[in-house]
Amino acid sequence: MKKNNLLGYVRESLQNTGIYYLNHDIPVWTEDPLPDSINLGKVIHEVGRLVPSAYLQYIHAIRIGIFDEMITRELNAFYKDGVLYVSNMQNSNKDMLDDMIHEIAHAVEENHYDFIYEDEQVFLEFLGKRKRLHDLLKSEGFDVKIEQFLTAKYDYDFDMFLFQNIGYPILQSITMGLFPSPYSITSINEYFAIGFERFYMGESNYISRLCPELSQKLIYLDELANEYQ
Ligand SMILES: [Zn+2]
Repeated sequence: MKKNNLLGYVRESLQNTGIYYLNHDIPVWTEDPLPDSINLGKVIHEVGRLVPSAYLQYIHAIRIGIFDEMITRELNAFYKDGVLYVSNMQNSNKDMLDDMIHEIAHAVEENHYDFIYEDEQVFLEFLGKRKRLHDLLKSEGFDVKIEQFLTAKYDYDFDMFLFQNIGYPILQSITMGLFPSPYSITSINEYFAIGFERFYMGESNYISRLCPELSQKLIYLDELANEYQ
């Protein structure tokens, strides 16, 4: 997930130290102080309430702080080898909650990759939207090349093109009704993760209208996860 508020962040006093447990067994701890406005215990509780517990088996720990990868890739959270890394620079409990759910999405994606992508429907839905975006940007006068838009995997140059050359505020208005957020344009993996995040943040109807193929996969996975609850 992309950082967006690092500059406006004011470091506040140390609190929320100590270890919390998600779902009673996944340790969560802070390595850099959280703002006073963040109630980590409450955020963790909400994650456990919103996400099927079967999904949490893929997570071994949640570390909160500033990590190198966040700086080099301009991220405010990432998932790696079963660990969620989440920035301590958070504006609200909801900001932190959606970061965590977003990264859980990447763990779920990694563990159900074949099911999500093997029939190519999510892939085709994503590329269709990318092509439409290309046409929209072109008609707005942007110098865009179609090849860049037809690569589903993460590409640093394309990411920077969207994030810096065009900018998320413009993308937000151009892609309304096409992509759930500018960041979901970045790669098929972010398309999945943003869809998952919105699905569990109470916007499943919105995702089902906007991304019907992705929504079908999310619903099926959710049913499967709840069976094993
Ligand atoms: Zn992501």
